[in-house]
Amino acid sequence: MLNVLNREDAVALIREKTVHLTPGIEKVNIRNACGRVLACDIVSPEDVPSFDRTTVDGYAVNAADTFGAGASIPAQLEIAGEILMGESADLNLKRGRCAKISTGGMLPEGANAAVMVEHTDSAEGLCLIYKSVAPYENITRKGDDISKGETALKKGTLIKPSQTGVLAALGITEVQVYKNPKVAVISTGDEIVTGSPKPGQIRDVNTFLLSAALREYGCEVIEYGVVADKKDEIETALKECLETADAVIISGGSSAGARDMTVDIIDTLGKAYFHGIAMKPGKPTIFGIVNDKPVFGLPGHPLAAYFVFRLVVTEYLRGIMNLPEDRPVYNSTLALNIPSNHGREEFLCVKLNENNEIVPLHTKSGIISVLSEANGFIRIPRNAEGLNKGTVMGIYNL
Ligand code: AMP
Ligand code: MG
Repeated sequence: MLNVLNREDAVALIREKTVHLTPGIEKVNIRNACGRVLACDIVSPEDVPSFDRTTVDGYAVNAADTFGAGASIPAQLEIAGEILMGESADLNLKRGRCAKISTGGMLPEGANAAVMVEHTDSAEGLCLIYKSVAPYENITRKGDDISKGETALKKGTLIKPSQTGVLAALGITEVQVYKNPKVAVISTGDEIVTGSPKPGQIRDVNTFLLSAALREYGCEVIEYGVVADKKDEIETALKECLETADAVIISGGSSAGARDMTVDIIDTLGKAYFHGIAMKPGKPTIFGIVNDKPVFGLPGHPLAAYFVFRLVVTEYLRGIMNLPEDRPVYNSTLALNIPSNHGREEFLCVKLNENNEIVPLHTKSGIISVLSEANGFIRIPRNAEGLNKGTVMGIYNL
């Protein structure tokens, strides 16, 4: 019999038992930082940009000199010179004068705005301005993007290309990141094979699916491979993995049938804290600790294994690396009614239709293709009485 917990309680227990297992810290060059998790806040050492810059090609002006200018009565300013790109603007603009400037050029002293070249005419050292500008119009001010002393990136941020760009803008070339947690993946099942399946056999999906998912969360993966449903073989595999891994995932055999041995093995070598989560898919899920390392037993159905990874195993990773809370990435409305789910928290792969409404994708839990078709998933709370078309739901990234 499974002793089933709510997912929130299961996650709280996992966090409690693993939060002290924070990986060590190492320094990496920002070129290699993508996919790693920041181990400290990044406080900006400087203002970005470091000087007031124009966002248009045209003329740097004192905005007051353009007030009242229009298509029929242009303001007339003397062109004092040109600001060259990449050079400091050592011009001091007097009232009634302007300077030619290109996008990104440094605003000279005395100027506080820029006029787009499209709204000007120039001849013989004079510039006619047909449209007035407000102070700081068409300007990015010093520190507007990131100001000195500001926390530009938070500890626990998973570094992606965009964060790499922020680090580059700040002149930071090396960052402290968590060492990759080493997670071993074992696939179990007499019918699971790595090569070509004979009749009755099936290909191993979970090793690859779970390994790829782990790498996305900054983990190093030890792919143990496929093990038969034999107690001593699974036990040997688990022991071997625990020698080098920080955590182990065993897929398959997590239920309570005659061929399901994972829970006993975990309980023999260490302690199984729970067996079963009230979630769909993913009910037969095990969490235990062996040698102060977490061991997760995941259902063999690839879709179920993936959801348990995404909603349960990642909570261990969030805890040890301070990753932010799992939040929906956007909201939309249901395109149709969804019936009640009778007491289990349910996760559904969904697509957006042409009106950006949510359409659940129908699945049997053994089917893998819906995962790749889906735009994301929705979460139906445990006690939802069925949901009506038009209900606003959060969509989570898969
Ligand atoms: P189990 O959780 O061991 O009862 O497996 C549930 C279902 O998932 C069975 O149909 C298995 O054949 C399938 N399954 C288990 N492990 C894998 C795997 N590594 N790759 C693909 N399918 C699997
Ligand atoms: Mg099995």
